[in-house]
Amino acid sequence: MNNNIYDVLIIGAGASGLMCASSLVREYPSIRVLVIDKNGKAGRKLLATGNGRCNFTNLNIASSCYNTDDVRKLTKILHSFNSKKIIDYFEKKLGVVADYKGDLVYPITYQSKTVADALEASCKGVRFLYNTEVTSVVKKDIGYFINGMYEAHNVVFACGGVSYPELGSNGSLYPIIRGLAGEDSIERLIPSLVPLKSSDKDIKALAGIRQECTVRLNGAAEKGEILFAEYGVSGICVMQLSGNYNRSIAAGKKAGFLSVDLLPSMDAKRKILKIEELMRAFPDRSPEDALSGLLKKPLASVVVGRSDGTPADIARIAGDFRINLIGSLGFENAQVTSGGLKLKKVNDGLELLNCPGIYVCGEALNVDGICGGYNLHWAWASALTVADSILEDMDGI
Ligand SMILES: Cc1cc2nc3c(=O)[nH]c(=O)nc-3n(C[C@H](O)[C@H](O)[C@H](O)COP(=O)(O)OP(=O)(O)OC[C@H]3O[C@@H](n4cnc5c(N)ncnc54)[C@H](O)[C@@H]3O)c2cc1C
Repeated sequence: MNNNIYDVLIIGAGASGLMCASSLVREYPSIRVLVIDKNGKAGRKLLATGNGRCNFTNLNIASSCYNTDDVRKLTKILHSFNSKKIIDYFEKKLGVVADYKGDLVYPITYQSKTVADALEASCKGVRFLYNTEVTSVVKKDIGYFINGMYEAHNVVFACGGVSYPELGSNGSLYPIIRGLAGEDSIERLIPSLVPLKSSDKDIKALAGIRQECTVRLNGAAEKGEILFAEYGVSGICVMQLSGNYNRSIAAGKKAGFLSVDLLPSMDAKRKILKIEELMRAFPDRSPEDALSGLLKKPLASVVVGRSDGTPADIARIAGDFRINLIGSLGFENAQVTSGGLKLKKVNDGLELLNCPGIYVCGEALNVDGICGGYNLHWAWASALTVADSILEDMDGI
């Protein structure tokens, strides 16, 4: 028997590749599966998720929380693999018990390692080949030839996007996917869930400050904690808006600005009254000192510095604190890639329409979600879809 012939060859031992392999061998133990990864071990990005705690799904999964080119296909997959199904899979098939922080779902150990270990342990019989980069996938009469060495009836691209390349996925396989799927098959790649950069000099003085606020950008608003940094701003509320922002820049729109309400619990009138009250109560202090019990002192100082010194103007700036943007920190610091292989180029089982036996799952596809477990949810749901689809096709042989 030729040891290099497989039923399924999976490129990528990340979240989606591990889940796909795990599901294939659980349903069909004698299936021959090879997983190849350029990293020295499985799940490097998975281990980094949720600050090492792995927010693996969300109780409110809906297609409206994602960006894609084919909402119908996405909705169908999310319906087949909703959060209850994923949590059940984790508990009953992987032995990972879930815990909840609001709608966010974590392993009860709050350790990504628990998830990575459980997935690896469930891949009994799967062959893993590490430190090996896939550089070619060529069609044969039946199946495909990979790196001129391995033959497989089915190939799964579970190779991720372009975000955080230091953890493995660097987009090196998009040219090969494009070669198989067609010239117009890849939606432009754009960093999403990424900190934003600013050119404002006074922002630098705020580095390290965190502030509860409401952030507005291009008509969308997010509440949460903003984190000021030397380069600009970060925090989940900023990252949630970053994908739309980067897509609008890529479409040729102006760089624009973030509008931050630094005192979101007060309406405009109350802001003025409170600022007047404090400035009247402490006439011998500078305005920033008088306001330092309302806004952290460096923030109070920048807000006063941008104003004409009157309570009304200070209040106006505190409610609409503008941060001029000059782009984002890019793929190196983006949690997810927006763009990728268009869903329109695959069937409902995520198999290329024009290349039977080639499947794509996870971040490599043109599906990206907001923060809160949505991207890992997509990795699991798309991987399980691919596994079911492959098994269905094999049934028919
Ligand atoms: C810091 C950080 C925190 C995150 N936190 C969360 C979170 O808490 N919740 C959430 O839902 N999402 C989170 N995400 C997003 C989530 O991790 C990804 O969307 C998800 O891991 C994508 O899974 P994937 O299997 O598609 O790709 P990946 O996990 O990137 O795996 C792809 C694998 O393919 C391998 N590969 C690539 N090219 C080749 C090649 N040519 N040859 C061989 N191997 C190759 C790579 O080495 C890699 O191991 C986070 C992302 C980051 C960066």
